[in-house]
Amino acid sequence: MRQANDLRNELRRIDRRGYGAYKDLKGAYGFPDYVLHIDRVQSDPFAPPSEARVVVEQARARLPRELFSTKSRRTGLEDYLTRAFGAACGRVRKGRRGSGKSGLIEMLPCGQEILERTSVEVSERVVEARFFIGLPAFGRTIAGAEAERMLLDEVPEIVGQSLFYGSLDGHAARCHVEMADDADFLRACLREQGLVTFVADGAVLPRESGVSDRPLGDTAVPFASPPSLRVNFDLPNRGGVAGMAIPQGITLIVGGGYHGKSTLLDAISLGVYNHIPGDGRELAVTCADAAKIRAEDGRSISEVDISPFISNLPFGQDTSAFTTPNASGSTSQAANIIEALEAGSRLLLIDEDTSATNFMIRDKRMQELVAKDKEPITPLIDTVRLLEQDLGVSTILVMGGSGDYFDVADRVIMLDSYHVTDVTPEAKRIAGAYASQRREESAKRFTDLRPRMPVAASFDPYRGRTVKIRPRGTRGIDFGTEHIDLSALEQLVDPAQSRAIGWLIHHAAQYIFDGETTLTQGLDRLNELLDARGLLAAVPGKSGDYARPRRWEIAGAINRLRTLRCAAG
Ligand code: ADP
Ligand code: MG
Repeated sequence: MRQANDLRNELRRIDRRGYGAYKDLKGAYGFPDYVLHIDRVQSDPFAPPSEARVVVEQARARLPRELFSTKSRRTGLEDYLTRAFGAACGRVRKGRRGSGKSGLIEMLPCGQEILERTSVEVSERVVEARFFIGLPAFGRTIAGAEAERMLLDEVPEIVGQSLFYGSLDGHAARCHVEMADDADFLRACLREQGLVTFVADGAVLPRESGVSDRPLGDTAVPFASPPSLRVNFDLPNRGGVAGMAIPQGITLIVGGGYHGKSTLLDAISLGVYNHIPGDGRELAVTCADAAKIRAEDGRSISEVDISPFISNLPFGQDTSAFTTPNASGSTSQAANIIEALEAGSRLLLIDEDTSATNFMIRDKRMQELVAKDKEPITPLIDTVRLLEQDLGVSTILVMGGSGDYFDVADRVIMLDSYHVTDVTPEAKRIAGAYASQRREESAKRFTDLRPRMPVAASFDPYRGRTVKIRPRGTRGIDFGTEHIDLSALEQLVDPAQSRAIGWLIHHAAQYIFDGETTLTQGLDRLNELLDARGLLAAVPGKSGDYARPRRWEIAGAINRLRTLRCAAG
């Protein structure tokens, strides 16, 4: 193998040559404490940066075994090291030194969630870190001396500060790992005990602002459970923790406007992920299969069986294989629920703020005026119980606007100036004293929803003769000549997840959807592959900028592909 000195000589040789000569750098170089791989070299200083990777033997990195002894812990440690490496890049790199991305050294940026990423991988034998380098140039002329400083001074310094246990903040690393471990433990307990979500006393749920995911500062009112819903857990690392546990069933969150209802529901919906220490939502944990549901008018729908919610459309349109390029509020919300169930969700989270009113409720007077046979929609108030009876699906619903829901709720919690109280007895008393007068409407059951089999040919990632799959933050993906709008997927939290989704659905179309595989089975197969072989098995290259998405967001992208066609089973 070539050594660090060979890299130095090579850089001196190509100094001041045309940018293309950087291609010669591809390959592996032995450094005293690690091996540096230059895997992909950018074609010019303005192109996406080059990909590099360092591999450190555990004999040198000396990461304590117990920090990666389980899946949860390993993910926590890898997340921590990604952040440590990224922070070291910020401290050490000199920054811009020439044209375009010259001088850049960076690792995948991270938000508040602890995610499975391709940036750092820890095994028994090695630690591998994948990062990006903007190989420097003036114009298109190689800046060899600058490159030498980057690859032979700055990168070794960054690696030294972030991948060796001796130079890490051991306490912080341990907290991070234990946080992930405790949260996963708690999530497993929920399932065993028939609970769907837990929010610890003291949790800080509100965020700094509408555009920042960091915790609100001093003015935040810490969460406190109502006594009737308080449960204690004994966590493996932190020990005892108390907080509000919501059981399976139908839960209503009520309260005046601006009293914190949506904030609580949002924290519950992001509780499918683990959060970093200091986030405030570390111990707001929700079962992994929760799906946030909203209305999304304008989306396309392809052959979804929305018949339990909607039937008798004008002109006899079929709602057991409902297709439209332009859904209404109610049809989109119905499709979003059916698709979440198809992907395996057993907990629906619905906020009145983002729901279609006619999907949620129809009152007595409206029932009188518009006869049932003129109204295609059976509102959620009449279907939410069937979801539970037929499929064991629980629902948590923010609903400040209609007390008719008291009749169907198992429990009602109220937010009052950010404090939660359990008002179930009061709500039930009121429901008894003032009959809602509305007639219950009957709906088709959820027991025989039509499975769908995506047709692989309807996924076309080509633009001209090249595959073009490009993420647009968390808002969407350009896929071939199509744009997939993901902005309504509120549980898609990281641009690195969208980047992965684009390639995962391409992978599924190439290798999984054969016309006989249902969407549900396809998602299972994809997840089995990711569990067994990791994300890099299904995305191109060995790049460090992917994060693992949940199956609901993968399905969400497939379902929003406007060219999607399905064969019904
Ligand atoms: P609602 O859905 O009941 O109308 P929101 O959840 O949107 O209310 O919250 C309204 C405002 O209060 C938001 O700006 C939110 O950040 C803030 N907020 C929510 N919960 C808390 C809390 N526990 N402490 C301080 N501010 C909060
Ligand atoms: Mg709200």
